[in-house]
Amino acid sequence: MADLDRVVVVGASAAGVTAAETLRREGYRGELVLVGAEKALPYDRPPLSKQVLAGTWEPERTLLRPESAYAGNGIELKLGSAAVGLDLDRRTVSLSTGEQVAWDGLVIATGTRPRELPFGHDLAGVHVLRTVDDALALRGDLLRASSVVVVGAGFLGTEAAASARRLGLDVAVVDPLPLPLVRQFGAEVAEAVAALHEQGGVRLRTGTGVAALHGEGAVSAVELTDGTLLRADVVLVAIGAAPVTDWLAGSGVPVDDGVLCDSTCRAAENVYAAGDVARWVNPHFGGLMRVEHRMNATEQGMAVARALLGAQTPFAPVPYFWTDQFDVKIQAYGVFPAGSEMVVAHGGIAEGRFVAHYLEHGRVVGVLGWNMAKQVRQDRQLI
Ligand SMILES: Cc1cc2nc3c(=O)[nH]c(=O)nc-3n(C[C@H](O)[C@H](O)[C@H](O)COP(=O)(O)OP(=O)(O)OC[C@H]3O[C@@H](n4cnc5c(N)ncnc54)[C@H](O)[C@@H]3O)c2cc1C
Repeated sequence: MADLDRVVVVGASAAGVTAAETLRREGYRGELVLVGAEKALPYDRPPLSKQVLAGTWEPERTLLRPESAYAGNGIELKLGSAAVGLDLDRRTVSLSTGEQVAWDGLVIATGTRPRELPFGHDLAGVHVLRTVDDALALRGDLLRASSVVVVGAGFLGTEAAASARRLGLDVAVVDPLPLPLVRQFGAEVAEAVAALHEQGGVRLRTGTGVAALHGEGAVSAVELTDGTLLRADVVLVAIGAAPVTDWLAGSGVPVDDGVLCDSTCRAAENVYAAGDVARWVNPHFGGLMRVEHRMNATEQGMAVARALLGAQTPFAPVPYFWTDQFDVKIQAYGVFPAGSEMVVAHGGIAEGRFVAHYLEHGRVVGVLGWNMAKQVRQDRQLI
């Protein structure tokens, strides 16, 4: 095992917490500090757009661990303090509190932050959704609203639209692409997602962008690029997220759409990255990959802890993702490149239950299940 006395993990969420716990499980006995920009105890994000937004879960239920688990594991929590700088030579992290924290092993797990529109975010009622505070603020506004416009028909936007319909709101989803989730899963599955949302009462305004947000102090309407005005008491901007790497500027850690890492997730000597922020060489697919999915945060958090302790094993997962929308669970293993061939292998799209295989050069690279959990798990082996 590598000889380390003090490991600092920056980013106290799924990847960071897993990395810290795995270090202990693997026998690391030195000091262990977990730094987090948010004041809240580490929590899980997937329920925010589903159960928390719909009001079926209290936010406390999303906590990853009870507070006592950290002390019990010898993990020192520094919450409410963001890393603002990194010095690789002196091996220190500077915090927003002015403190300098020394390390001889470092895990970068700062995740992503939502992208914003170039206009309108100063109006009340305009939201993004990443943190528990975001979810509670959005829910508070939705409960007082009658109409919401969701900008962006990716995973987050479509999940939030379904949750808002469950709250009884008039919901419109706007996206310049022709169908929801088309970039992620191709046209056939995207058409099924569109039908699901239309049956659920969501108005899809695809193939058009947002030109402006209107309102006096608070948002009241969304103007589309085709000139249409949509009434909106609330707007959720869900147009993707960007890796949080600004605090690494000038440090010498390589950054390009995430922290660039080798196949063991190593970014510099004794410095590793995990979760949404990490862009590493995945030997299973033979190229750089950055995965913004919950399961990857756990698996990569485990992998970097072992790598810090001396394991030389490449991190070569088959990515997994799920999304819940209305009464449908979509589960996806692997990758879904544009131009891959999609074949329905079990069930049928019209039946509302199917497993689809995505092929590239005759090989299965992705498997997607639509309300068919057992079968999709079995077919995962084909990748
Ligand atoms: C609303 C929502 C719903 C989702 N639903 C699903 C789903 O259904 N299925 C799925 O697979 N995935 C889902 N995801 C994605 C999943 O939650 C992420 O992949 C996962 O949270 C990534 O974990 P992470 O630890 O890498 O990063 P994050 O969860 O982003 O955590 C990074 C942490 O680092 C902190 N931080 C940032 N900068 C600093 C700094 N400078 N100093 C200190 N701390 C810092 C942040 O405050 C944050 O707490 C969802 C995400 C969201 C937001």
